[in-house]
Amino acid sequence: MPGRHKQIVCACCNRPGRHDTNGWIKACARRWRNAGRPDTGPPPPRRHRGPANRTTTKRRTEYAALAALGRSEAYIAWKLSVSERTVRRYAAAFQNSQTQQKAAA
Ligand SMILES: [Zn+2]
Repeated sequence: MPGRHKQIVCACCNRPGRHDTNGWIKACARRWRNAGRPDTGPPPPRRHRGPANRTTTKRRTEYAALAALGRSEAYIAWKLSVSERTVRRYAAAFQNSQTQQKAAA
């Protein structure tokens, strides 16, 4: 006989865990409550927060260094093994961060 906290497979993300409410596991029910209990159910889990963001941060730093040397988008895209579209995203993020730094200064 299982205890009060039944092991279930979450209704929103199919991960196993202890049941909390609405057929969701504790982690999902907590996200749902933190999000203000939306009708749509729990927001998706934030995955791979650390490594993925570190890679992005590293690439943006590399982008900034190459852009400072006056390299073209095509060259930077080739150098960083990303698409030119991604390079433009880095450019936008970089300019955005520069603007924010100026605003803070
Ligand atoms: Zn879930």
